Amino acid sequence: MSLEKEKELKECIKEKEREKELYSKECVAECINFAVGTASAENTYLATHERFACYLATILARDKEVVAVRLKVLPNSCDIYLSKNFHWLDKDVKYINEIQNYLKDISKSAPTILKGTESAFTKAVMLYCSAKLESRLEKLKKDIEISNNSEYVNSFIDFFSTKVNDINDGENMYTISQICMEYYKKIKDKSNISSKFLGHIKKVGSYVGSMLGIIECARNIQYKPLFSIIRVFKRNPDIINNQSIYSWKNIIKRFIDENNYKCFMDRCSKKPKVMERWRKVYTNIGTQQQQLDGNDVKQCIYLHAEMNILALIIDDKIKSREFIAVSKRCCYLCELYIDFARRHGYNIIVSGNHKKIYSGWKLLNVKDNTFKIEALRYILENLDRILENKIKYYAKSLQADSDNGENNLDPKNSDSGYLGKYFNQYNEYVNKFTLVEKRVSRK
Ligand SMILES: [Zn+2]
Repeated sequence: MSLEKEKELKECIKEKEREKELYSKECVAECINFAVGTASAENTYLATHERFACYLATILARDKEVVAVRLKVLPNSCDIYLSKNFHWLDKDVKYINEIQNYLKDISKSAPTILKGTESAFTKAVMLYCSAKLESRLEKLKKDIEISNNSEYVNSFIDFFSTKVNDINDGENMYTISQICMEYYKKIKDKSNISSKFLGHIKKVGSYVGSMLGIIECARNIQYKPLFSIIRVFKRNPDIINNQSIYSWKNIIKRFIDENNYKCFMDRCSKKPKVMERWRKVYTNIGTQQQQLDGNDVKQCIYLHAEMNILALIIDDKIKSREFIAVSKRCCYLCELYIDFARRHGYNIIVSGNHKKIYSGWKLLNVKDNTFKIEALRYILENLDRILENKIKYYAKSLQADSDNGENNLDPKNSDSGYLGKYFNQYNEYVNKFTLVEKRVSRK
């Protein structure tokens, strides 16, 4: 082997080693420092096509999945790049085609409104998103139960009851979404409301907000050229099921000695949330065995949806403004990577961050290897700082907040009445949901 080749090989091994280090440290960080800060929205002005991308991200995310959307507007057409954390299933592909065709038809006939097509579009979205909406409604319901007597919950229930009396079916999840959207618009700037409650109202409302926003765009004659030719590119997921990582103990002991390790473990064992995450992160899914020590710890790692889109932007060296719409705010490691890309001249905009560290976050494979290596170094430096602080000066409180963050959906059209009629047609297809027990309106 030539000296050159040998050097290359050594570099390659070193790089793989550093990646393994990253994946191992993510696991420890998720357990002991799940939330790095509080969630934040980036208050950037969004162009119409960027808002449209946000609506799409919301209606394309099924169950627990995260979807990222990038829209490229060309003079007479539109390219849509989609990615998600896991594999595209046949039913996803079918749904995307269906949505695409409805939008083309609605746009083609504009300004004439195609009620039948809009209604069919609504039905398709209702069915595809119902599991996710239901889980969001559960969270909102819990909020209402916990803070039952607070002023803001009472005010919401009053609003809800009045609206439900006006609408035929208050148990249709999408009718509830519609009411939440209207309520959110009314109260979003009031400061006395719990931000968690407000966030849940917004998430529930985002479904009707997105449908409304999408129909509005498709109906707009100004955008006809865009909808006439839509090309959709679905990015392949990047998943490694058996990434080997260093054990929990191996990583912790890089920061403290044996005596302090005992002390550290003692404290960890008194933190139920840490223990819960610890069990989750280090349990081998196949064997259900805990993998805390030893050399054969395995993790499933996968590329987050927004990173998959970012890889495309970096590979094509696109340095103009690029907005990536995501159905959920970015995690801390995605945020770090985007931060690194920005330092290298990329103008990447996302809708917000939730500051949480997830194990299983996979590093992007970009063509520019130097970029990849430097990004990895940047992320490791930041992660090391967090781990060092947390491990050495173990904080007293380790409470993590709930998962925050959704796109800010605020379609201009305030009249969403026509959607309600569509929802009522499909009552039988969607699970019923009782958000609040009916009470007499105090109107
Ligand atoms: Zn992420």
